[in-house]
Amino acid sequence: MPASEFTLIYRYFSALGRGEAVDLSVGDDCAILRLGEGERLATSVDTMVDGVHFPQDSFPEDIGFRAVSVAASDLAAMGARPLGMTVALTLPEPDEFWLNAFSQGLAAAVSEYELPLVGGDTTKGPLTITVQVLGAVPLDGALLRGGARPGDKLYVSGTLGDGAGALAFLAGDWQPEPDAAEYLLDRFNRPRARLALGRELLGRATAAIDISDGLLADAGHVAAASGVKLVIDPALLPLSDALQTYLSPKQVREWAMTGGDDYELCFTLPPGEQPPEGCTHIGSVEEGEGVDCGLAIDIPPGYQHF
Ligand code: ADP
Ligand code: MG
Repeated sequence: MPASEFTLIYRYFSALGRGEAVDLSVGDDCAILRLGEGERLATSVDTMVDGVHFPQDSFPEDIGFRAVSVAASDLAAMGARPLGMTVALTLPEPDEFWLNAFSQGLAAAVSEYELPLVGGDTTKGPLTITVQVLGAVPLDGALLRGGARPGDKLYVSGTLGDGAGALAFLAGDWQPEPDAAEYLLDRFNRPRARLALGRELLGRATAAIDISDGLLADAGHVAAASGVKLVIDPALLPLSDALQTYLSPKQVREWAMTGGDDYELCFTLPPGEQPPEGCTHIGSVEEGEGVDCGLAIDIPPGYQHF
């Protein structure tokens, strides 16, 4: 007889639920988490659908890790302290080989982000993973999109375009050297939510967003929310060594400008504020509206589901 829903939940999802803020974890009707004094709850949810948000032949470990990273990236963009998450999992079959590998990907993310799995839901249907993240931000602050002011400088963390370069490689459009291929696949399959950076930016950055839909699209959200123009110098975009080996610098620049899936942070600092390590100055904030990168690139509005 196949294992029951409750046995599967117990076997794969009940051991990842301990954390500093967790009073009650998997097993009851709700989880109970504690906020510190002077804190508010920040929460966000992201759904990943098989074949839409990840390639159908992705490893289950990577699907688990990536689903958590994508959701946790929103906590990073708010400067939130991670408290915990819930995972709603829809599966075609109770495939224990798949569940075991998937839960190992979750476990890696739980420990890397100190983001315990405190509850969820398990149902039958087409493979879909929904991750709700819970975090804490100070009562008197959080990193919002709307605070950029003319005179601020614009920064990004890490390198840009790696996710797009990896997808182009997976689609067979180019063949990176083995080391570069390994690096790019890791960047796509195992994006790292910049939680530590987000918290470092609290009280310093005037605006922040995580780059999930591509720099131009996401910088556009900051510009709109702040009522300013963002000017980006394409020559300043930070690129990985792996992408530098690609033949066409124009293509690489376009990946860096419009490619999604990097999950780096894009943020603004007031003049004179030093950027944290690993971040690159890419432009400035001016009066006006929209994003100006001096290139004739159509800004894709981000992935459109409908
Ligand atoms: P209910 O009927 O009250 O919604 P469930 O049977 O869905 O309860 O879940 C029982 C317990 O197992 C709950 O604590 C729930 O949060 C947890 N749970 C269910 N599915 C998952 C999952 N995929 N990951 C983590 N916890 C889960
Ligand atoms: Mg339920």
